[in-house]
Amino acid sequence: MKRNYISQAVQYLVGEQETNDPYRLARQLGIQVDEHPFRGRIRGMVLNIAGQVTVILNANLPGWLKRVVLAHELGHLVLSPKGYGYFWLAEHTLMESKTEYEAHRFAAELLSWDETPEEDETLEQFAARVGVPVEMMRYRGPYENDLAYQVDAKGNCPKTNRSCRC
Ligand SMILES: [Zn+2]
Repeated sequence: MKRNYISQAVQYLVGEQETNDPYRLARQLGIQVDEHPFRGRIRGMVLNIAGQVTVILNANLPGWLKRVVLAHELGHLVLSPKGYGYFWLAEHTLMESKTEYEAHRFAAELLSWDETPEEDETLEQFAARVGVPVEMMRYRGPYENDLAYQVDAKGNCPKTNRSCRC
């Protein structure tokens, strides 16, 4: 199977930065990571203030989920074709569900980097082992299926403003 552009982006990033840990990646890319006790379903958001990109994670989330959300936000930042400035435009124009799919898939591939399911391991078990929600793991290369485009239908990421609420 041909590796798609998201797999390639993950491969390039991990190769260049020598880590698949989202916190280390953020640090090495000059992205600040902060936390705020958001209420409601907001899991995280990205701010770009005068060129300083900050990812703010919901402080109420468990640690493993913060890691997933950070990986997702890194996906938005890395995959944005015209750099961080363009990111905001992309978040509230026509590409919304595509950008969400891309960021989910990026996160799944990044967090399960170098890991493959054991022979008798179910997708659920594999996802739990690498710390990725099973729904997100379905976005990963070999498991990719038609569900991939149903992100918005679940209402996970209402894109009504410039904040990412995935
Ligand atoms: Zn998102």
